[in-house]
Amino acid sequence: MPSGTLYIVATPIGNLEDLTFRALRILREVDLVAAEDTRHSRKLFSHYGIGTPLTSFFQHNEAVKGERLLEDLRQGKSVALISDAGTPAIADPGFLLVRRCREEGIPVIAVPGPSAVVTALSIAGLPTDRFAFEGFLPAKTKGRRAALRRLRQEDRTTVFYEAPHRLPAALRDLAEELGEDREVAVARELTKIHEELYRGTASGALDHFGSGRVRGEIVLMVAPAVDAEFGGEKADAGSLEEALRKLSAEGMPPRQAVKQMAKEFGLPRDEVYRIWVATKDED
Ligand code: SAM
Repeated sequence: MPSGTLYIVATPIGNLEDLTFRALRILREVDLVAAEDTRHSRKLFSHYGIGTPLTSFFQHNEAVKGERLLEDLRQGKSVALISDAGTPAIADPGFLLVRRCREEGIPVIAVPGPSAVVTALSIAGLPTDRFAFEGFLPAKTKGRRAALRRLRQEDRTTVFYEAPHRLPAALRDLAEELGEDREVAVARELTKIHEELYRGTASGALDHFGSGRVRGEIVLMVAPAVDAEFGGEKADAGSLEEALRKLSAEGMPPRQAVKQMAKEFGLPRDEVYRIWVATKDED
């Protein structure tokens, strides 16, 4: 018997109108829809009059439930996988099931649609030619700071998902690790009534979101480390050293040079100071 097909179906990230015609047809036609939270997905189903049976498939039953779905697929049933919002398997369950299907030769078909990472990037006004998606930022300070520290020399836009109640702490750590002037964008409640896109510096974002309670769903984006005044050149250590040497030769006091370069390179002052000391040691 030929096996069934697994459809990976993207659903809205807020606005229920963001469901494609094809997604609607597939959700109506398949034998079974595996959903992260069946109660949540019933709202979508009742909005569109979809009567297909729903079964739960979430992080903690992924292994066991995946086996059952594989059995259904082997027996020729067609299954659609959906998550609460956006594209399944993107910071959501699905990867293991897709992998097992691929190993067994069961067809896996994408039915594309919204995903918060791409939606946020598309309106942020940050470089999108290259970007890195990092999923959720670590919840604890130590891990979060280490994750952010790695972006000091990052030359791609970096995208994080973040819980609203952790946003102020994340922005504080970001300003500490990457400098107050590092460019960021925060997308909140995309496609919903209270949609908001903040773009500015890390300290500006902290002023905006740091006091009071942040509500809704959040995508945090960090711009590449770029030297704005040096023709968009990448903030590599070499060009920073060169700039520091030049300012020093021109007689600018170290404090002022470090402050100015930290701003221009979007780096924390202590990092620039360390590089300044290293150039002095070399000279
Ligand atoms: N699979 C989903 C996707 O393709 O975007 C992501 C699932 S992940 C568990 C949920 C996170 O995505 C939220 O915590 C938030 O960071 C982000 N997110 C989802 N919907 C959003 C929205 N409407 N606005 C902003 N961020 C959103």
